Amino acid sequence: MMYAECPTCGANINVGKKPKMGQRFTCTACKEVAEVVWLHPVELDWPIDDEDFEDDAELDEDEEDYYFHDEDEDDEEETDE
Ligand SMILES: [Zn+2]
Repeated sequence: MMYAECPTCGANINVGKKPKMGQRFTCTACKEVAEVVWLHPVELDWPIDDEDFEDDAELDEDEEDYYFHDEDEDDEEETDE
């Protein structure tokens, strides 16, 4: 296991065996999210919100009720008597 220092509180964060660049970890001590910015040695820094950061699109909850009229299959019970 490898450990890197939390940029916020300085606690050691377990980054697993093979951390990757850009991988994000949550500090167990301060719950801050840190991103791997260097690998030799492993360094963590606050994640940078760049253009790739996608804002959470507001979900339009326009739920219109569509009623699909299924053709009812007539259950013809064969009553052979
Ligand atoms: Zn921390």
